[in-house]
Amino acid sequence: MFCPRCGRSGEELFEGLCRSCFIKNTILLEVPDDIDVKICTRCGSYLNGTKWIKPESSDEKTLQKIMKKQIKADKTVEDLQTFIEIVSVRGTIIQCSIQAKGNVLGKMIEQEYSTEFKIEKNVCPECSKFVSGYYEAVIQIRADNRIPSNEEIKKVDEIIINNIEKLSEKNKMAYISERTEIKEGVDYYVGSYKVAKRLTTAIKDTFGGIIKESPKLMGRDKTTGKDLYRIWISLRMPYFREGDFIKYGDSIGQVISLDGRKIISKELNSINKLSILWREYNKINTVAKKEDIKKTTVTAKTPKTIQILHPDSYQPVDIEIHEKIADIGIGEEISVVEIEGELYILN
Ligand SMILES: [Zn+2]
Ligand SMILES: [Zn+2]
Repeated sequence: MFCPRCGRSGEELFEGLCRSCFIKNTILLEVPDDIDVKICTRCGSYLNGTKWIKPESSDEKTLQKIMKKQIKADKTVEDLQTFIEIVSVRGTIIQCSIQAKGNVLGKMIEQEYSTEFKIEKNVCPECSKFVSGYYEAVIQIRADNRIPSNEEIKKVDEIIINNIEKLSEKNKMAYISERTEIKEGVDYYVGSYKVAKRLTTAIKDTFGGIIKESPKLMGRDKTTGKDLYRIWISLRMPYFREGDFIKYGDSIGQVISLDGRKIISKELNSINKLSILWREYNKINTVAKKEDIKKTTVTAKTPKTIQILHPDSYQPVDIEIHEKIADIGIGEEISVVEIEGELYILN
């Protein structure tokens, strides 16, 4: 047995060659002369196989990732390492050199290759949806028996912009394709239903209210055969706002805070605070607005009653003392609100 290349004999043969000829003969990598790369002009992601993925932190790192899918390593190579270097960029053609290092039969060998990346401008499927104005859901901002105020709409815009900015880092469908102000409020058309849900929840955390979803069948996906739905998500803000007065059962109180879960009502005739969940909204009546609060003075006091002047008629009115107003003295200026014909001292 001898090596047909160098004629040496008495050595172990690898695929018919001696070790040193085999090593010399090995080509570490199969590298295509050119590699086509599709890049999305809107988001910068590129097509890697069948998937659009985000670019890496540098062009070299991105090309490295694409290159790794295109090269084929010789099966005898172990501990293969590859490095890519951009040699030149001419228009859409990027010339690169690839250094390869690997272990063949116990010997480290190094080789260099060159390849050309051909960049093709394209639009990824998500971005083409954005470009065409596609949306999966519509958020409808409304208010119960009133129209959302300009300040409320401004705040909603702010919440949407801030959240979209964060969500779009991870989700290309996190975009607003249209915003429409109508008489009853404002509508936002959102690329993704999931994102629309997140946005609505964030808005509810600030304003409270009732969320309702109504899906509408839009047709059928021709490729998957699945029904296509669009979802309308409405957030109805409550009629009352912070500072207004509500009645829930027998309890009359002032709304001191509200969030996505509940309403906190400070009772007028006790030191109690009531926490009411939004699903109880239908059982709440708004009995006075913040603007109905008026000033008056205390004219007399007995152990059981405080006498004040009615803020409109200036007639004396006796109010039964309870723990919340026990410390008020004669001559003090106080705030009152009239609810269902009765005056309440606010404290
Ligand atoms: Zn040989
Ligand atoms: Zn894109």
